[in-house]
Amino acid sequence: MTDSSGLQSGRPRSLSGIQATSDSLHLGNYIGALQQFVEQQETHDAFFFIANLHAITVDQDPAQLRERTLRTAAQFIGAGLDPQRSTLYVQSHIPAHTQLGWVLECTTGLGEAQRMTQFKDKSGKNEHVSLGLLTYPALMAADILLYQADVVPVGEDQRQHLEMTRNLAERFNHRYGDTFTVPEAHILKSTAKVYDLQDPTAKMSKSAQTPAGLIEILDDAKSITKKIKSAVTDAGTEVTYDPEGKPGVSNLLTIHSALSGRSIEDIVAEFEGRMYGHLKVALAEVVVETLRPLRERTLELLDDPAELARVLDAGAETAGAIAERTIADVYDRVGFLTR
Ligand code: ATP
Ligand code: MG
Repeated sequence: MTDSSGLQSGRPRSLSGIQATSDSLHLGNYIGALQQFVEQQETHDAFFFIANLHAITVDQDPAQLRERTLRTAAQFIGAGLDPQRSTLYVQSHIPAHTQLGWVLECTTGLGEAQRMTQFKDKSGKNEHVSLGLLTYPALMAADILLYQADVVPVGEDQRQHLEMTRNLAERFNHRYGDTFTVPEAHILKSTAKVYDLQDPTAKMSKSAQTPAGLIEILDDAKSITKKIKSAVTDAGTEVTYDPEGKPGVSNLLTIHSALSGRSIEDIVAEFEGRMYGHLKVALAEVVVETLRPLRERTLELLDDPAELARVLDAGAETAGAIAERTIADVYDRVGFLTR
């Protein structure tokens, strides 16, 4: 049941998004974000969106962006998000995201935005740096604050942006009166950051330079197994969890634990006296078996783009109604004349 504020009775609201920047999400997105989304739809009033506005902060091909938006939606559902229980929508379908984004850009200091590590990382990697890459966190704050979200499930790399969202909400509330819920980040300590298999000191990322280091959730069994077998491991032979000294092996253990639901200690005990190779074989099996049904469902959904479009339309209806109420209130508080 939804009350007049759009809030499902009694449940805190959870909201998050994933960018439409690749054909397939990767294990980091799945473990750091999507798995949390699927859990939270049981306990929260859940809103999850495909971030296509954020995607164009770096260069995108239009046909590919359209395709990737649908593919990302299919993976949301394939991973277990149920459109009956979660509101699933496309960011650009709700104009209030950009409307509030502008107001929040004007609430953000230039130095504050320039300090964001994602901006520093991505602007360092791209030849052409768009202004949107700098203002990204203000739009992200708008994505969240528009819906009065209580919790935002994300990976560790988004912690700093979440902190900025909280600051912007508090700043706006202080200046214009209570308007926004100040959201909490939901970042699971144990699985917050999955690392690249070829460079276990770098975050696994859609825009990564090394495809071999990235397990895509739509990869087939053969390529998953191959990538895990050739994962970079560390000096020594003993399977132990030591993120500082053994980042490669520790990353494999983290992935295993996140997908199998077993504790790291339990997995380490299983491989006592055995080699890294044994852990890799076992992990490949866990990953393949976890992703197999997800991949099958996603490919099925992609065969029926009209149905996907219907789901996203319905999501935009629900989300749009809440977003419009917030932006009307914000415009009024800021002093914009109504028509
Ligand atoms: P891009 O390289 O285009 O930024 P990305 O792989 O970082 O893509 P995003 O769409 O930016 O993916 O992030 C979606 C969600 O996945 C966010 O909540 C983010 O924190 C999480 N996430 C991304 N990479 C990882 C990772 N390696 N480990 C854990 N969580 C991750
Ligand atoms: Mg990212």
